[in-house]
Amino acid sequence: MPDLISESYWKQGVDKPAGDQGNLPTECDVAIIGAGFTGLTAALHLARAGRSVTVFEAHDIGHGCSGRSGGMCGPSFHKLGLQGLTKRYGEAKAWEILRESLASLDFFFSFVEAEGIDCDLQLVGRFRGAATAREYNALVKDSTLLADKIGLKFHPVPRDMQKAEIGTDLYHGGVVYERDAGLNPYKLVTGIATRAIVAGAHVFENCAVLGIDHTGSVKTLRTVRGEIRAKTVIIATNGYTGPEFPYFRRRLIPVTAGVVATEDLGIKKIREISPKLRMHGGTHRLVFWYRPTPDGKRMIFGGRVMDRKRRPGPVSNDLMVLARRVFPQLEDARAEYCWHGDVAYTFDHAPHLGEADGIHYAMGYCGSGITRSIYFARQLSRKILGQADDTTAHDDLKFTTLPFYSGNPWFMPFVLRWHALMDKLAGH
Ligand SMILES: Cc1cc2nc3c(=O)[nH]c(=O)nc-3n(C[C@H](O)[C@H](O)[C@H](O)COP(=O)(O)OP(=O)(O)OC[C@H]3O[C@@H](n4cnc5c(N)ncnc54)[C@H](O)[C@@H]3O)c2cc1C
Repeated sequence: MPDLISESYWKQGVDKPAGDQGNLPTECDVAIIGAGFTGLTAALHLARAGRSVTVFEAHDIGHGCSGRSGGMCGPSFHKLGLQGLTKRYGEAKAWEILRESLASLDFFFSFVEAEGIDCDLQLVGRFRGAATAREYNALVKDSTLLADKIGLKFHPVPRDMQKAEIGTDLYHGGVVYERDAGLNPYKLVTGIATRAIVAGAHVFENCAVLGIDHTGSVKTLRTVRGEIRAKTVIIATNGYTGPEFPYFRRRLIPVTAGVVATEDLGIKKIREISPKLRMHGGTHRLVFWYRPTPDGKRMIFGGRVMDRKRRPGPVSNDLMVLARRVFPQLEDARAEYCWHGDVAYTFDHAPHLGEADGIHYAMGYCGSGITRSIYFARQLSRKILGQADDTTAHDDLKFTTLPFYSGNPWFMPFVLRWHALMDKLAGH
């Protein structure tokens, strides 16, 4: 039996653009830390606007979440949901956030099209299964409200019709979000990198930033390859934010998520379990999602990593146990690829962008950041360039932390166990 490949399936056969091989410049207009969707999209906009831009990446382009994600795109509504948002921010703000989520999906599609990025974008929609009959009713009610108020495109799928969507009896019906899509995230991040480089941005790989010193309006970045002065700095390190940026690290909760891609199961088998090749997830509290690969031959399953050492063997075993709970017909299926990535959660469950102590940032996408990071990066660039229409519904959300929290999420195993218990009590 072939060995488990402990690398992102998305990288197979994809050429990565070469980073800058020259010497580090001594100064630039904008220094960007992190070469994922956020950093590279900002680099693209700012370089096109004529700024000299230098991107620093501790590893290689797309090394973080951006090259490892599930590749499922949607409006990434808000982790709190409609009721939670309304309770926390009031009705007007809740709808503003939700409306912007849909608008960021529109922006995302037009961005990929305008840039001509070949990233296997497939407008297949997403089926979200309800774990209980009660949750089915709530899902349909909320989706109907979103459709009426802000134009969400969806249709309900009652339990007796769900076999047309998914080859399992696990769910009590569900809804299809018609405008959700799937793609290869590594092709997307390398596509953005290529365009940023063509626009004139310098991207230095294996070049970790060790810290930032301020003197007046000029910032000096200390990197493993020397120092560089910049007028403007963007931190785009998301779940990979280290102790070198303590302000941000204190505000982010890194959570490791694992992913497996099965062996080639053949198109027939995949159609049995995902007849319309949609993106999939459920209402369970413990997040578990899955989707076919763009060629329709494998399934990808993703969820929380329970193995503290993040070893590919145990991680893939755990995920395949969950996969077989949804699809018993995968009894003999084998995981061929297994990888993990660090998602950035925040204490208010919201992504954040803005400026702190003269440093710009966009981060904390709470595991749903493909469309949002690309939208935030464009808005952040507009703010830096002083362009019109630079606001977002998130501008005035305070980026909070907790007393004594320094970036070590010691409480996460307890949170995961709590969610598992809640799932059990809810009869999932
Ligand atoms: C397993 C997994 C599945 C996911 N699935 C989905 C999905 O299906 N749909 C969805 O919308 N979202 C998904 N997400 C979330 C999404 O991928 C992220 O929100 C998004 O990629 C964030 O992009 P980013 O550019 O902000 O951060 P990242 O892509 O994480 O990039 C941050 C980069 O900063 C670099 N860095 C850190 N510190 C330094 C330093 N000191 N110096 C230089 N470089 C540094 C890191 O090496 C890293 O490359 C998933 C995430 C994971 C981990």
